[in-house]
Amino acid sequence: MVEEYGLFIGGEWKVPPGAHRYETRNPANGEVLGRFVAATPQEVKEAVSAAVAAFPSWKATPAPKRGEILLEAARLFRQEKERLGRLVTREMGKILAEGRGDVQEAIDFVEYMAGEGRRFAGETVPSELRQKFCMTVRQPKGVVAAVTPWNFPVAIPNWKIAAALISGNSVVFKPASNTSACGAELVRIYEKAGLPPGVLNLVTGSGGTVGSALVDDPRVRAISFTGGVETGREVYSRAATHLKYVHLELGGKNPQIVLNDARQELALEGVLFGAFGSAGQRCTATSRLLVEKGIYREFVEKLRSRVEKLRVGDPLDPSIEMGPVASTDQERKILEYIGIGEKEGARLLTGGRKLEGGPYAKGHFLAPTLFEAKHGQRITKEEIFGPVLSIIPVEDFAEAVRVANDVEYGLSSSIYTRDLDRAYQAVDQLEAGITYVNAPTIGAEVQLPFGGVKNTGNGGREAGSAAIEEFTEIKTVFIDYSGRLQKAQIDA
Ligand code: NAP
Repeated sequence: MVEEYGLFIGGEWKVPPGAHRYETRNPANGEVLGRFVAATPQEVKEAVSAAVAAFPSWKATPAPKRGEILLEAARLFRQEKERLGRLVTREMGKILAEGRGDVQEAIDFVEYMAGEGRRFAGETVPSELRQKFCMTVRQPKGVVAAVTPWNFPVAIPNWKIAAALISGNSVVFKPASNTSACGAELVRIYEKAGLPPGVLNLVTGSGGTVGSALVDDPRVRAISFTGGVETGREVYSRAATHLKYVHLELGGKNPQIVLNDARQELALEGVLFGAFGSAGQRCTATSRLLVEKGIYREFVEKLRSRVEKLRVGDPLDPSIEMGPVASTDQERKILEYIGIGEKEGARLLTGGRKLEGGPYAKGHFLAPTLFEAKHGQRITKEEIFGPVLSIIPVEDFAEAVRVANDVEYGLSSSIYTRDLDRAYQAVDQLEAGITYVNAPTIGAEVQLPFGGVKNTGNGGREAGSAAIEEFTEIKTVFIDYSGRLQKAQIDA
């Protein structure tokens, strides 16, 4: 039996009469996983109305009490970790260890945000006047829309939802169409955890209809969006007409630099995990490998031989190292880029094709792909979002940094070296929101801010201490207990 999900509006699961349905499928074998309502703009309005109605009482709920509900949600996520982890794998295609990791990241973050309910700190600073007290407090923005991609279908929505909720906002959540079952299941957990009706609402359906309706509704005061640059640009410009706050987490073209003095085995393990984990479909995936010329040939040969041994197949099988890519669209786009690479004269070292027949017959499986490329070719500059790594030889550290920075993105970056000076110089010079030393470009931890520079976003950060900033307004408060009119800048 394929489960049928409704919209979750005002605390009730609803299937509007005559609703159109769409389904999600397992990218490894085509199995249908769930059927969902393709919401209309009218239904999106209803969800926003429910969030508007729920907001005052949720805002008035003390933050530690909001935290108690989050803590219960975290407990339920932990209880359901195996089931949800398998669902992530079945709906999106990452291997089971990574599916579980996706859920673990949600657990970590929801727990972290629950604790934030007892901090939620403002500032107290002195007044220039006597008997006057100055402080800031944080207040929720109002109704928040969370619009999310499919590649971390449990973790990314939770980064937004848990931070928005602890801050006192009400939320309308639109998951990626491809991973709607993960989206609906995580909403069920918040429902079970005791969230009051209307505080979290779920609308499923296409970005063009449902996402746009959220962006255009003037009652939605903030949009937290993670996805591609083009969609982000559209969301940002449309929301600008309403002067909405928009938080954008967009693409990446993340480099791993390997200098002559690197521990080669460590750097090899790093690039294998960074480039081919989740079949390269992480915003922080390593998509460029910049190797200093002294070790170039040796390193690339070792890498090619390791990549050829990667076990690709059913992501639920624990011996498998890389699953399918997430959808037909993903498969088509990645194969297109492989064609572009070949046409532009990049040298295909391994992979570069769809895997067919036998265990691959019904899925979107691609061979892990290595290109030896020249900086400037499109595959070295544009986000591919798949298991395709461009290797670029560099003369020295200075050229590595110059090439690393010469792209329009700036999310993650990594350098492998034993030279402490070089490591710190890389931290100074790499144009990226995140720099790892002797570790791959992937590996975010929830207690640290996450985000990027240049076209990776519009300046904000998620998670860590930044999470609360994303979802709150600062109110500045002056309390004058002198009993007389005091004039700042005028009274001596
Ligand atoms: P996407 O196509 O931009 O979609 C993201 C979300 O936006 C989906 O829910 C989508 O709905 C919705 N959407 C589409 N068109 C919309 C519109 N006109 N108005 C409002 N919403 C709209 O991205 P994706 O393919 O799901 O995800 C891959 C991208 O996400 C990559 O570029 C990756 O780098 C980026 N990403 C960034 C981060 C980060 O933190 N920086 C993290 C993960 C992923 P549908 O699913 O219905 O189309």
